[in-house]
Amino acid sequence: MRNVRTALLMLLFIILPLTVFAKPLDKVRTKPLPGTVTLTFDDGPSPIFTPQVLAILKKYHVKATFFVMGWAVKKYPNLIRQMIADGHAVASHTNSHPNLTRISQRQLRYEVLMPKEAIKSVIGKPPVCLRPPFGAGNKRVAAFIRTHGMIMVPMGFNSFDYKRPGVNKLIKWVVSNARSGRVILLHDGYKARAQTVKALPAIIEGIQKKGLGFSAICYP
Ligand SMILES: [Zn+2]
Repeated sequence: MRNVRTALLMLLFIILPLTVFAKPLDKVRTKPLPGTVTLTFDDGPSPIFTPQVLAILKKYHVKATFFVMGWAVKKYPNLIRQMIADGHAVASHTNSHPNLTRISQRQLRYEVLMPKEAIKSVIGKPPVCLRPPFGAGNKRVAAFIRTHGMIMVPMGFNSFDYKRPGVNKLIKWVVSNARSGRVILLHDGYKARAQTVKALPAIIEGIQKKGLGFSAICYP
């Protein structure tokens, strides 16, 4: 009887902090504020490109959302700390970028929980959004993510920056398609993102010229 009581008490101590300190998901804003777009950066952080992106965002006073990889959070925690210090939002993009609809429940568990814990251990709060790689999610994946305290958010408007179309083409594509309420997908991590970095100032200026502002989503 005493053992049962002790076990229950221990369970309570494990569950309580999670329920008390995690942000209620219905309070999480996953859409840009009216009159703004959201710039999102996936697949990072990268020790080469993320600092450049952060410097540009800072110069223009733009707040963005970074969907980061669990492995990279562990490797480059200081970049995550810099994002938070600069007022950006950090959310999950899984650990290793698999297609979540095609992996086992055990793998899904790792891909969802590992980055969540990694981010939490760096910023002190668990992330509240997860953007599945390749925009690939289904009901099973969404339900699993929700059960673990996060909202599955879509890919957003594709800049196709990963195809490296050339800086000018990239600027034109993003600026001409920017409109109020749009979440724009860009990349700062994993591969060669020099075009994205080079295009970013003109993308921001072009969007500003259209009378639009910027707001980040998925703040924990
Ligand atoms: Zn990705």
